[in-house]
Amino acid sequence: MATGPELKIDIAEKRFPGAPDALFAGLRLDIAPSSVVALVGPSGIGKSTLLRMIAGIDTDFSGSVEIGGQAARAAPTPGFVFQDPRLLPWLTAIDNIRAADPDCTHEQAMEVLGRVGLAGAGALYPYQLSGGMQRRVALARALVVNARLLLLDEPFVSLDRTLVGEIHALFARLVAESRPTVVFVSHLTEDAAALADRAVLLGHRPACIVADMSLPIAGAERDQATLERYRAMLDGALESDGD
Ligand code: ADP
Ligand code: MG
Repeated sequence: MATGPELKIDIAEKRFPGAPDALFAGLRLDIAPSSVVALVGPSGIGKSTLLRMIAGIDTDFSGSVEIGGQAARAAPTPGFVFQDPRLLPWLTAIDNIRAADPDCTHEQAMEVLGRVGLAGAGALYPYQLSGGMQRRVALARALVVNARLLLLDEPFVSLDRTLVGEIHALFARLVAESRPTVVFVSHLTEDAAALADRAVLLGHRPACIVADMSLPIAGAERDQATLERYRAMLDGALESDGD
């Protein structure tokens, strides 16, 4: 039995009030179940806006988004990780996770915290967590909301180099274990080269898809040479679009 796309995105037009031109006009994208898709493009192109439209946070556009064959508004809420972790400062890591889902028990929150490598940090408050740890709590929170469909906005931005490597590895492991559908946004081709099995490159205004590339080796199995090859391929596609 053939399964349909997990996400069917059709943005006929997205324009912010007062803006001289449309951000998107006629953008279509189908995303297969259990794929890891990177949306890559320069700052200001509309990546965060597109992700918010997919998530149903921004509904002020013409067109449609279907999740698992249903209108997005009728489908289960995707797990969403914002560009900044947005933890509630007065709650511990565990309680930040539980606040995302009223049905989440203490034990479930502990389990998911373990999955992001923070088993011992449940009782700590956000100010006691490093930037990288806060990102992990935000990821755990998204997993509690919906571990099958994750939308992440620049989840690796402004982390130092060693931390990026660690979080890439953690993320690749989570994906290999539970095969969620993932859409993440990045302005860096290296994030896509590390994790995505499909990279959708955005350019121009209104934004359109300038390249749609398959990266077939699983994220968790990429060696340094593969990462560099994928990154060069993506950079090449972005450059040739600029010519
Ligand atoms: P990216 O995430 O790719 O950097 P954004 O989606 O954040 O891009 O923004 C794309 C464009 O839309 C930018 O020019 C930005 O200024 C504009 N924009 C984003 N949000 C709003 C808003 N709420 N109102 C008006 N303009 C906005
Ligand atoms: Mg953005």
